[in-house]
Amino acid sequence: MTAKTCPHCSSPANASYIAQDYNKRLTDESFHYFTCTRCALVFMDPVPGDLGRYYPTDYYEVPKTEAELAETATRLQQWKLDTVLAQAKSGRLLEIGPAYGLFAYLAKRAGFDVTGIEMDARCCAFLRETVGITVVESNDPATAIADLPGFDVIVMWQVIEHFPDPWRVLDAAAARLNPGGVIILDTPNPAAFQFGVLGHRWAHLDAPRHVLLIPVDVMVDHMARNGLDPVMLTASDYSANGFNGFGWAFTFKNFLGDNMVGRAAHLAGRVLAKLLIPIERTGWRGSTYTAVFGKRRQA
Ligand SMILES: [Zn+2]
Repeated sequence: MTAKTCPHCSSPANASYIAQDYNKRLTDESFHYFTCTRCALVFMDPVPGDLGRYYPTDYYEVPKTEAELAETATRLQQWKLDTVLAQAKSGRLLEIGPAYGLFAYLAKRAGFDVTGIEMDARCCAFLRETVGITVVESNDPATAIADLPGFDVIVMWQVIEHFPDPWRVLDAAAARLNPGGVIILDTPNPAAFQFGVLGHRWAHLDAPRHVLLIPVDVMVDHMARNGLDPVMLTASDYSANGFNGFGWAFTFKNFLGDNMVGRAAHLAGRVLAKLLIPIERTGWRGSTYTAVFGKRRQA
């Protein structure tokens, strides 16, 4: 492998990881990741032409009933609604990549006027018919956003790392955000303690579905260029803490197989995550980070 050029800052980037699809085992291909020597962006190169084929048809486990949806949403995703409500109590809300709508359901129930841009047709049908939100079916959110009216809140939960050109998506979102509005996202943290220890085996590298891991400084710089300032940045919120446990458990399970040994490894991962709380929940070492950006009222 030769050195590459960083797609964000054009500085040299070094070959750093060769990973396979350890999480889903849909292919035996190897995927090469590079790390920018200047901004520390981690990116896959080359990016497969058809990323869609690395998402299994059962990627989303759509709930059977609205009652099941409501129970799962409240149990797993109340923290997302709380994060939003700390910034805005009502208005037009766009979710990019809502899947089958756990968060969208909570947001709608809390009184937001919710729109979702989603690529999965089965999820889109569920979002329209059961969740009851406005849905745009598209795998090109940057283009889809441009056709929509302005929003007060735009959320991207664990989604920006999946796009080959996240900058276009962020720019389009910033352009469609009303002055005073907020963009809220969470994404795997390339500065995570786990990534340093586990490297290419890290479950949150998730090759080949995760195309870029964006350092928080890079995210802040990019949003500033779009007229958005950070309101809240954390790598130790409910999301990060949960993903710490997930990261250890699934990495162990992936490498010991899905059997009794695998389940024991999964449990060991959960225990390890508890032991590492003093490390992973301090500094900027969590597995993911959550960022809130506010759009300036005047340029
Ligand atoms: Zn760079």
